[in-house]
Amino acid sequence: MTTTSGGTTRLHDQMSGSVLGPADPTYDEARKVWNAGIDRRPAAIAQCHTEQDVQAAVTYAIQEGLEIAVRGGAHSMSGASAVDGGLVIDLSRLNQVTVDPAAKRARVGGGALLGDLDAATQEFGLAAPAGLVSHTGVGGLTLGGGMGWLTRRAGLSIDNLVSVRVVTADGQARRAAEDENPDLFWAIRGGGGNFGVVTEFEFRLHAVGPMVTFGLLFWKLDDGPELLRLARETMATLPMDVNIIIAGLNAPPAPFVPEQMQGQPGYALLVVGFEAVESHAAVVSRLRDQLAPAFEFVTPMPFVALQQLLDEANAWGFHAYDKGCYVDDLSDGVVAAVVEQLPKKSSPMSIVLFYPLNGAYCEVAEDATAFSGGRTSRFGVFIIAVSPTPELLQTERVWVRETYDALRPFATGAEAYVNGLTDFDDAIVHSAYGSKYRRLSEIKTTYDPANVFHRNANIKPHGT
Ligand code: FAD
Repeated sequence: MTTTSGGTTRLHDQMSGSVLGPADPTYDEARKVWNAGIDRRPAAIAQCHTEQDVQAAVTYAIQEGLEIAVRGGAHSMSGASAVDGGLVIDLSRLNQVTVDPAAKRARVGGGALLGDLDAATQEFGLAAPAGLVSHTGVGGLTLGGGMGWLTRRAGLSIDNLVSVRVVTADGQARRAAEDENPDLFWAIRGGGGNFGVVTEFEFRLHAVGPMVTFGLLFWKLDDGPELLRLARETMATLPMDVNIIIAGLNAPPAPFVPEQMQGQPGYALLVVGFEAVESHAAVVSRLRDQLAPAFEFVTPMPFVALQQLLDEANAWGFHAYDKGCYVDDLSDGVVAAVVEQLPKKSSPMSIVLFYPLNGAYCEVAEDATAFSGGRTSRFGVFIIAVSPTPELLQTERVWVRETYDALRPFATGAEAYVNGLTDFDDAIVHSAYGSKYRRLSEIKTTYDPANVFHRNANIKPHGT
């Protein structure tokens, strides 16, 4: 355990985990976040091991007037989990996952990564719906909604939450579920980290894998209009045991990519089959027959490998910025906007992604949770700039904004998904939550009247 000097000694004495200050040799490593463009120097980092540690850290920060940043997987592109001069409540040691295979439930520490969740649940052939990159935090991803490969089959991450334990701004640890603090439970399902520090998520699990079938089919830029129309038709009749994520990207430098195609911009359909191999094969062969791809890679793989497939392409240490929206369909207008904008990106790492939101996603009532993306069939669109240098990111930021503006006339429902946003000023947060903002603000007033937890897409309590 590290001892720090000065004002944090009192906190250190109350915690089982460490409290790091600027003089600590591991401080610089501990304050890093995924987005290399964020470089903040907190007064201290409380590395919590238990719920009691979180309570002590919250209480201490309030008493000392320190701004709080709650850190889960540290993937927020805006750097919401980092703060200058304040206290970082680092949950990365609270990453235990306990699975009850008979009940199909998992209890997941508030700082676990998706990889921790997948590893523990797949031991029993089970999974909770989460995102596409295994080093993302369960905490931030879930509190905003949580979209990924399993959204069609089993809904968002929040749709599978049974209960949570939350440390609220008064330092109390509470359980929230349908039958206990139901207002808080409603709010945290989509309302982000606004209502307290979640120390434990309890998820409902589904039978998945252990093997799935993966296919990456890649087309050149010129094929964009035809391919995106083909994707539209394919999605309309896609069997429920297959999912397709549509990407505008550069071909990776992978061994399965022909040398002359490596690094080339184009479009990929990432096709995943969860059950019968034949079902996946039929979708792939139909795509291939309708429009020959430049290359393809089709293989069985473990579900955990699927969940790690994009890890390296999304590694820590790059500069990033994103925006997004929802579109009902790949309409001709959407296709034209994407085809116009994709060739204009400058960084080979930047990407446009369309996540299908349909099936089980649409079975959840619109008002059941605070998530405000709308529950009719649609796509979640992520426009993501990633760059090795801050200079190139300046250019890419303009590309993201222009691509967003080009898609905006076709956007449906809420203006944005709070997990797919780097800038969140008040106007954007209001439009992201739409008519649910008022109720969220009332619940915020109950649980966090002084807006202690504000480093997020911030919902303001009344009177502030
Ligand atoms: P952090 O930066 O640690 O936290 C983000 C926010 O959540 C902060 O406001 C933080 O205070 C709060 N927070 C985190 N944990 C807790 C907790 N336990 N209690 C209270 N507040 C907490 N989103 C998707 O839906 N699907 C995807 O497939 C997907 N893929 C992604 C891949 C990459 C590489 C990246 C960078 C992002 C991706 N996202 C995806 C977006 C992601 O959901 C958000 O960035 C999310 O905020 C990350 O959560 P985190 O815990 O890693 O981040």
